[in-house]
Amino acid sequence: MTKPPYADRPALRQAIIDACLSMERQQINQGTSGNISVRVGDAMLITPSGVDYAKMTPQMIVSMPLDGSAPEAGQMRPSSEWRFHRDILRSKPKVNAVVHAHPVHCTALAMNRTEIPACHYMVAAFGGDTVPVAEYALFGTSELSDTVLESLHNRAACLMANHGAVVIGDTLERALWRMVELETLAKGYITSLSIGQPHILTDADMAEVKAAFADYGLRDV
Ligand SMILES: [Zn+2]
Repeated sequence: MTKPPYADRPALRQAIIDACLSMERQQINQGTSGNISVRVGDAMLITPSGVDYAKMTPQMIVSMPLDGSAPEAGQMRPSSEWRFHRDILRSKPKVNAVVHAHPVHCTALAMNRTEIPACHYMVAAFGGDTVPVAEYALFGTSELSDTVLESLHNRAACLMANHGAVVIGDTLERALWRMVELETLAKGYITSLSIGQPHILTDADMAEVKAAFADYGLRDV
C-alpha cells in the first residue's frame, strides 16, 4: 500500500505550524489570515485554507507539486493564496520559504499604497533601497501572483496593495525573521511620519549597508 501524502516530513510540517503560532504570538497575524509555504524537492508544503493556527495539526499541511499538477487526493484544501506561493518558489530557485501575513502596520501602508523608503538601514535586509507595494489584484488570483512576482524582482519582501505583505527566504527561519523585521520597520516608519518627516538614507549609505549585509549572508534571494 502506498503511503498517504500527509505522512511525509512530520518535523517540517510541525515547524510550519510553529512558525504560524509564533506570528500569532508576535501579533503579526490573527485568526486564520496569513499562510506559509516551504519547498520540498519539486513540491511545496503549504498551510491549509481556513484553519485556526491553534487547531492546526501536521497532517493538515498540504503537499502541492510545483509543476501545476493536482495535489494528491485525501488532503485538505490549500491556502487560497497557494498560487503566489507556488509561482514564487517556481521562479526563484534559491528561495525555499514564503511567508504571507496581514500585519497591522504593513497593511496600513499597503492600504495607502505607500512603499517603505530607505528610512532605516534594515530596509537593505529586503534586497534593495525600498520595500515596494505590489499593485492591487483580487486575493487568490493569478493576477495577484503576477503583481507580487513583479515586485519581488530583486527583493525579499513587498507590501500588497489593500491586502498585506509577503516575504521570502532561503529558510523558513529567515523568512519568518524577515516578516517580523518588516512589521517592525513599518511600525517605525509610520511612527516617524506621525512626529515629522523621516530623513532618507542616501544611495551611498544604502550601498554600504548592502555590502555589509552580504557578509552576513543576507543576499539569499
Ligand atoms: Zn492575505
